[in-house]
Amino acid sequence: MEPNGILIYAQKDSECGIHPVVFELLTKARELKQKIWNQKIAVCLIGERKNYDETISELGSYGADEVIIVNDDRLKEYNKEYYSEIFVQIARKYPPRIILIGATIEGKEVAAYTSTKLETGLTADCSNLDIGENYILLSTRPTFGGHLTADILCKTFPQMATVQQNMFKAEKTEHSANAIFDWIDTDKIEKKIEVIKTIKKTIGTKDLTTAEIIVSGGSGACRDNGFALIYELACKLKGAVAGSRSAFEKGYITKSQQVGQTGKAVSPKVYIAVGISGANQHLTGIKNSGKIIAVNKDKNAPIFKYADIGIVGDLFKVIPELINEIDKEG
Ligand SMILES: Cc1cc2nc3c(=O)[nH]c(=O)nc-3n(C[C@H](O)[C@H](O)[C@H](O)COP(=O)(O)OP(=O)(O)OC[C@H]3O[C@@H](n4cnc5c(N)ncnc54)[C@H](O)[C@@H]3O)c2cc1C
Repeated sequence: MEPNGILIYAQKDSECGIHPVVFELLTKARELKQKIWNQKIAVCLIGERKNYDETISELGSYGADEVIIVNDDRLKEYNKEYYSEIFVQIARKYPPRIILIGATIEGKEVAAYTSTKLETGLTADCSNLDIGENYILLSTRPTFGGHLTADILCKTFPQMATVQQNMFKAEKTEHSANAIFDWIDTDKIEKKIEVIKTIKKTIGTKDLTTAEIIVSGGSGACRDNGFALIYELACKLKGAVAGSRSAFEKGYITKSQQVGQTGKAVSPKVYIAVGISGANQHLTGIKNSGKIIAVNKDKNAPIFKYADIGIVGDLFKVIPELINEIDKEG
C-alpha cells in the first residue's frame, strides 16, 4: 500500500482524556495536509478513554479525519511494550507518509521504538514542521548546542518527527472524524516489563505546561537559599516553579521543572526568569510566553534582549522587595 497521509499518536492526559499536545499536532497537521494533496489525518488512540464518542468528536474538531482505536483489558494503563508495538502495527496496516508524536516521556518512548522497527529516520524535539521540496516533511530543530537551527529532510518513509507541547497553538475547526475500532492480538506481543502499580508523582508545584505565571530560577539562584525565594514568590503569585538546566543539574528542581530545549516548552502569561543568563537552549522553551520579566545582576546578560521588563540587580535584594510589595497589596 502506498504511504498516505499523516498519522498522529494520541497519548492520554492525567485524567484519561487526550493530551493537549495531540490537539496542537492536529492543528499543525491541517496546514501540512493542504500541501500533500489533502491526504487524510489519522489519529491512533490506544487504551481506554473516558468517553469514546466525546473523544472522537473532540479529535475531529481539531482536524482528525480518522480515529483508529485499539483497546483491550491489557491496555488500560500505558505499557511501553504493548503501546509501542501496537502503534507500529497500526503504522504498518495503514501506512502514513508522516508520523507525528508529542514529545512527552510516553511519546518519546513510542517514537524511538517505532522508528527503529519501521527502519526510518526520526527528527526529535522539532520547533517547526513544514512540507519542503518533493513533498517531503521539513522538520526544523535546534542543533550545534542550540546555536543554529537545522531544516531536516527525511528520505525514508514514513517521515517521523516529535514535537514538544506548546510549540504550536491548538485551534478548532468545523470538522468531524470517522472512527475505526481495530484489534491487535496482544497475546503475540513479547513483554519483558510487568507494571505492578502506578503511583502518581507529586512535585509540589503546579504543572508548568498549563501555569499562567511561572517563576524560574537559574544558577544565579542556586546558593544561599535563592530557590526558597523563587518558591516564595511563585506561591505569592499563585504560579509554578521552574528552572534552567543548570538549576536541574545542581539539584534545585526536578527534570519535569526544567524549561528549554531538553526540558519543557512553556507558554504562561508571565515568565519571570531569575538569575538565568538566557542561553539559546533556554530561550527555545519560553518563546511562546506572554510577557518575560528578567532579574539579573549582569546588565549585559542575553536574557535582557528577549525580556519585556528587565530588572538589573541582585536577586537576593530584588525578590524580597517584590514579595514585600505583593504583601502590601494584600
Ligand atoms: C544540547 C544542549 C541542551 C540544553 N538544554 C537546555 C535546556 O533545556 N534548558 C536550559 O536552561 N539550558 C539548557 N542547556 C544549557 C544552556 O546552554 C545553559 O548552560 C544554561 O541554560 C545556563 O543556565 P543558567 O542561565 O541558569 O546559568 P548561567 O548561564 O550560569 O547564568 C546564571 C545567571 O545568573 C546571574 N546571576 C548570578 N548571581 C546573581 C544574583 N545574585 N542576582 C541576579 N542574577 C545573578 C548571572 O549574571 C548569569 O547571567 C543545554 C545545553 C546544551 C548543549
